Amino acid sequence: MDDRISFECKRCGKCCQGDAWLRNLLKPSDVQRWRALGRDDILKYICACCCRLVDPEKDNAPWRHKDCPFLQREEGGLTRCGIHHVRPQVCRDFPVRKCTNPDCAEEFHLHDWLWQGKCEASRAFRKKMLHAVELKINDNGD
Ligand code: SF4
Ligand code: SF4
Repeated sequence: MDDRISFECKRCGKCCQGDAWLRNLLKPSDVQRWRALGRDDILKYICACCCRLVDPEKDNAPWRHKDCPFLQREEGGLTRCGIHHVRPQVCRDFPVRKCTNPDCAEEFHLHDWLWQGKCEASRAFRKKMLHAVELKINDNGD
């Protein structure tokens, strides 16, 4: 039986707006990948020292209180990622995140946003997940 649980993004863009978590979670491996691809259009927004987003129009000042520079809006209010095929790992991994604690036995954790209810798709995903766990527990109890 296929027991995978799908995550269906509503394309609201909340996770890419304002001071959402993504901008602080870029990794050196993202930067290396963009360098290898010659993506100067992306790299101009990234500080080479700390991997944080910067504003190239304002002397590389920190990119704060603004939407992700790669977020695009469509008519009707839906959003899309302008660098979808090469987006950062953190954006690819959502709604899970890779564990950075070397003492932890788990490779991935569910992202905090899943529990904070900020993302509508996460709320639906969480419900499906809890339902699947419930079914499993009931199966094992038979
Ligand atoms: S907040 Fe959730 S539903 Fe909205 S764009 Fe991000 S992942 Fe998709
Ligand atoms: S890179 Fe794309 S998916 Fe990630 S925060 Fe920016 S617009 Fe959103």
